[in-house]
Amino acid sequence: MDLALSPQDEAFRDEVRAFLAENLPARLREGMAASPGVFVEPDIGQEWQAILNKKGWLAYQWPKAVGGTGWTPVQRYIFEKECALAGAPTLTALSLKLLAPVVYTFGTAEQKARILPRILTGEDYWCQGFSEPDSGSDLASLKTRAVRDGDRYIVNGSKIWTTHAHHANKIFCLVRTDPNGPKQSGISFLLIDMKQPGVTVRPILTLAGDHEVNQVFLDNAVAPVSDRIGDEGDGWMIAKFLLENERGGSCHAPRLLADLEAIERAAREEPDGDGGALGDKAAWRRRLAKIRLEALSLEMLELRILADLAKGRPPGPQTSLTKYLASTIRQDVDLLWMDLYGDAGLQLEAARPLYGRNAPPPPHSRDAQIAGPRYLNSRAWTIFGGTNEVQAGIIAKTVLEL
Ligand SMILES: Cc1cc2nc3c(=O)[nH]c(=O)nc-3n(C[C@H](O)[C@H](O)[C@H](O)COP(=O)(O)OP(=O)(O)OC[C@H]3O[C@@H](n4cnc5c(N)ncnc54)[C@H](O)[C@@H]3O)c2cc1C
Repeated sequence: MDLALSPQDEAFRDEVRAFLAENLPARLREGMAASPGVFVEPDIGQEWQAILNKKGWLAYQWPKAVGGTGWTPVQRYIFEKECALAGAPTLTALSLKLLAPVVYTFGTAEQKARILPRILTGEDYWCQGFSEPDSGSDLASLKTRAVRDGDRYIVNGSKIWTTHAHHANKIFCLVRTDPNGPKQSGISFLLIDMKQPGVTVRPILTLAGDHEVNQVFLDNAVAPVSDRIGDEGDGWMIAKFLLENERGGSCHAPRLLADLEAIERAAREEPDGDGGALGDKAAWRRRLAKIRLEALSLEMLELRILADLAKGRPPGPQTSLTKYLASTIRQDVDLLWMDLYGDAGLQLEAARPLYGRNAPPPPHSRDAQIAGPRYLNSRAWTIFGGTNEVQAGIIAKTVLEL
C-alpha cells in the first residue's frame, strides 16, 4: 500500500531522500545493519543524531516551540519511512521520545532550558530507571526511596533491566518519596546524575551475548530537588504519560516493512534445497504476505495515532495495541530472517561489535550472521515497555470494557 501523497508531501519525500543519500555515511548504515541488539550502540547512534541535529531534524517529534520541526503527521511518517528504507540508525528513544516530552510538558522553564538542548547535542545520554528487581508489571510497588534533606534528595534502592545505563551519564527515575498511603500517590519523578560515588552499574548479558541492559544500584545517591519533575507525588501520573509515549510514540511499521522487503529480496537468492529459490515457494510467499498484511494494518494504526497527536489528543490505550502488534510482528519478522538462512542463521557469533574494522568475517552473509542474535534479542520486544500480557489486559479493560 502506498500513501497517496500530495505534491507538497512528494516534494518533502524527495528532500528527505536527497538528504539521506548525501548525509548518511555508509559506515553508519553498515553499523546499523550489523547491530543485532534492540537499541543501536551510541558510537553509531550519536554520530547520526549529530548529523540530524545540524540539519535541525533531530527533534522532529517535539513541538515547534521547544525545537521541533513543525512537520505534519504525514511528513513525520515519510521521514521515518525514508530513514528505514535507507537503513539509517534508529534514534535514542530514551532521551528524545521518553524523557523530552516529560520535560517539555511538566518541567519548569528553567528545566526545559537546561535539559532539552543537552539532549539534542548528546552532552547528556539518558537511561530509564523504572523497573526494580521486584517491581516490573506492578510498577507502582517500587521501593527505591528518596528522602528529602534540605534542597536535595538522598536516594537508596536498585533499578534493573536499565538499557544503556553503562553508556549513560544521567538516569530518570521513579522514586518513592512517601511510603505511606496508596502506593501510586507516593511516587516522584527524579533526575539523577550517574557520575557520582553513590551509583554503581552492573552489566547483564542478553541471551545472544549482547550487553544492552544492566542493574543500577543507588547507595545514598544525591539529586537536587531542582531535578524533580513535577511536584512530589506526581511521579505516577508522569509515568503513565511517559509509558503511553514509550508504547505509541514511535512508528514501527516503516522498519518492519523495510525488513520484509529486504527478506523478500534475499529469499529470491536463497536456494530452497529442491533446485529452486526459497522466495518462489508458495508456502514461504504466503507466510511473508500474512506478516506484511499485519505490518500494513499497524501502519494505518500508527498514522491514526500521529493524526491524533497532531490535534493535541493524547493517544490513550491505542498505544497498548500498537505496542502489542509491533512487538509480535517484530518477532515474526526476526523468525523469518532465521528461517531464511537455515543452519547459517543458527551460528551464534560471540564477538562484538559485528561492524567496523575488527568485525569477525561473516561465514555466509552479514544478514545470516546477525539473524540468530537478532532473533534472540527480539524476545525482549514482548517484555520491555510493558509485557504483551499487560497490554492485552489494558486493551481488555479500557477498550473492550471487559
Ligand atoms: C531488553 C529489556 C530492556 C528493558 N529496558 C528497561 C529500561 O531501560 N528501563 C526500565 O525501567 N525497565 C526496562 N525493562 C524492564 C521491563 O519494563 C520489565 O521487564 C517489564 O515491565 C516486565 O516486568 P518484569 O520483568 O518484572 O516481569 P513481571 O512483571 O514479573 O512479569 C512476569 C510475567 O508475569 C506476567 N504478568 C505480570 N503481571 C500480569 C498481569 N497483570 N496480567 C497478566 N500477566 C501478567 C508478565 O506478562 C510476564 O509474563 C527492560 C526489559 C527488557 C527485557
